Amino acid sequence: MSAERSFSKEVEQLRLGDGDIFEGEGILAVTKALLQSGVAYVGGYQGAPVSHLIDVLADAKPLMDELGVHVETCPNEAAAAAMLGASINYPLRGAVGWKSIVGTNVAADALSNLTSPGVMGGVLIVLGEDYGEGASVIQERSHAVAMKSSIWLLDPRPDLGCIVDMVERSFELSEASNTPVMMQLRVRACHLQGRFTARDNKAPPVSTRNKLAEPAPFNYARLAHPPVTFVQEKLKLAERLPAARAFIVEHGLNQTIAGDIDNLGIIVPGGLTNTLARRLARLGLGDAFGQSRLPLLVLNVVHPLAPGQIRDFCAGKDAVLVLEEGNPEFIEHQINLILRKADIGTRIHGKGMLPAAGEYTAEVIEAGLRAFLEAERPAGVDLAPIRAAAEQAERLAEAAGAALPAPLPPRPPQFCTGCPERPVFSARKLIEAEVGKVHIAADIGCHAFATFEPFSMGNSILGYGMSLASAAAVAPFQEKRSISIMGDGGFWHNGLATGVIGALLNESDSILIIMQNGFTAATGQQFIPSSADGRFGHAPGMDIETTLKGLGVPWLRTVRTYSVTVMADALREALTTKQKGLKVIIADGECQLARQRRLRGENAALLERGERVTLPRFGIDDEVCTGDHSCIRLSGCPSLTVKPNPDPLRDDPVATINNSCVGCGLCGEIAHAAALCPSFYQAERVRNAGVLERALDGARRATLRWLGGGAP
Ligand code: SF4
Ligand code: SF4
Repeated sequence: MSAERSFSKEVEQLRLGDGDIFEGEGILAVTKALLQSGVAYVGGYQGAPVSHLIDVLADAKPLMDELGVHVETCPNEAAAAAMLGASINYPLRGAVGWKSIVGTNVAADALSNLTSPGVMGGVLIVLGEDYGEGASVIQERSHAVAMKSSIWLLDPRPDLGCIVDMVERSFELSEASNTPVMMQLRVRACHLQGRFTARDNKAPPVSTRNKLAEPAPFNYARLAHPPVTFVQEKLKLAERLPAARAFIVEHGLNQTIAGDIDNLGIIVPGGLTNTLARRLARLGLGDAFGQSRLPLLVLNVVHPLAPGQIRDFCAGKDAVLVLEEGNPEFIEHQINLILRKADIGTRIHGKGMLPAAGEYTAEVIEAGLRAFLEAERPAGVDLAPIRAAAEQAERLAEAAGAALPAPLPPRPPQFCTGCPERPVFSARKLIEAEVGKVHIAADIGCHAFATFEPFSMGNSILGYGMSLASAAAVAPFQEKRSISIMGDGGFWHNGLATGVIGALLNESDSILIIMQNGFTAATGQQFIPSSADGRFGHAPGMDIETTLKGLGVPWLRTVRTYSVTVMADALREALTTKQKGLKVIIADGECQLARQRRLRGENAALLERGERVTLPRFGIDDEVCTGDHSCIRLSGCPSLTVKPNPDPLRDDPVATINNSCVGCGLCGEIAHAAALCPSFYQAERVRNAGVLERALDGARRATLRWLGGGAP
């Protein structure tokens, strides 16, 4: 599925059998566990940190064919969730994956309609839970969706053996309670490196190799359709929930770690356990292997809670600390309710000692632990060294800050060097003086980097492929046309249906720019319907321009992104033409990251055959550069920087291009389009040059030396 890289090594690991040792990342362990569980079908939509799940399985086609497993690369998360409908009527185990919370939101309709009738075959939804430091999406948790839709939610301890075990148990739990199961894997759990002892893969009993002769008999009870939905709501509570709770307790899905300070305890979701263990060890209350002096209840299943297990753990304790990231504190509220109903007086601490929002990092957890210890003062624990260590850490942090002459400037991510999307924003910036500022509806994707300096463009981001739809009620109230921007990935994911069709339906007088770079670039360059290649070795054959023409878009231009002048002209025309209706500019330019990876391989092959390879590079003539740096402000390319002016009579540093330049040509185009100084030049580095070319080069160098140019 992915053009980014080959997964041949990972695919080999999927073939490991009983007793073999699997070594690798958490998300790859999940992939292997799916095959060990006898999964019959797998699907999903790419998104960090779980993209590899589908990428690897799609690359493992021969193995999937041997086992009879169907792999589907879904156009969005809603399609992936709907795919799970196979398990409503058939004894098929199925798994899908996507990034949460955004993907879960997209999938919510299908998930509700899946969960209401319930499932016969086990269903597992692997969620890349992008919450906390380094997250790339809005900060919400999947827990709320699990609770409102009655989907069980696992949050396994970040340990490959535990994760694999929980994947296998998830299918059993799903079948025992006829309910889909979600497993949230934080970024750290997905990329955790470790090992586990593998088991043989299981070929599913019903598969692409062993097909059913007949469809399932009609059964109205398996439809999410009233009036049976009223019965289904009762079944969720009367049968499925008790069955799940019984399974969780009987099969030991949650884990208790005993400790000698038994009047206190900590309840921790599995995903936070490693961080907690490390911080307990630092405070002298545990060790690096997870033992703890404070008893722990590790919730590998965070929904549903098993009330008996909570009561058993808390009864007889003076106080328990609940570690639960985010808000509302669902687990803490439920524990308080369970204890109150049982008339158990254990004090429950959580929010207040720990912050209401944000990731519970190691530092946050340690601060919460210290607050808990200070409040409860456990017998036999000397708090003095703990306080002293905290004070010393604070002093060190202050000293580190004071050692810097000024706070470090923020360094947000930005477009790759040579990105084809950057020139579109340069063109927009260039015509701003003529046409003024307009409302810009931004979107999810690499182009969202234009919200940072030097472009600072974008008034809203409403979701993946939602920019044009989000401008629907903005455009009618603006004198000037608004511009919506989405990527080709976003276009196929959602933008075509919600944006383009909505705009045509409502005869919206608006502008849409579609960045056509050929991949869902930001998630690892997966193929999309309009890619030049596909997972089956050929292009899927769908085309954005043809699609838009077919829908009757009245004004449509396809412009090579690096042609800044042409792009500026197209934008100017779209903003000023008297023609009403939707105007679409397809900004065409291959993702530079993908291009460089492709060229690296192609050039290596050429060099090996002794053939000619040219690498374009750009440079700036020091003597011509005026030092006003407008090229930097207009392009923002990280290869464009400054250096001291070699002219002793001039103070301003001159612009220069460093070695990371990929020769995209944008800076030269901008200099031309903006009529900047003519200081840019293009050079070509030639390898395996021919005899004539070498002779010509020799003659040129000799001439330059003769003229006193000092050519090397
Ligand atoms: S991944 Fe591709 S599209 Fe995204 S910023 Fe880099 S070059 Fe641009
Ligand atoms: S040609 Fe210019 S814009 Fe393109 S990568 Fe090189 S310095 Fe950056």
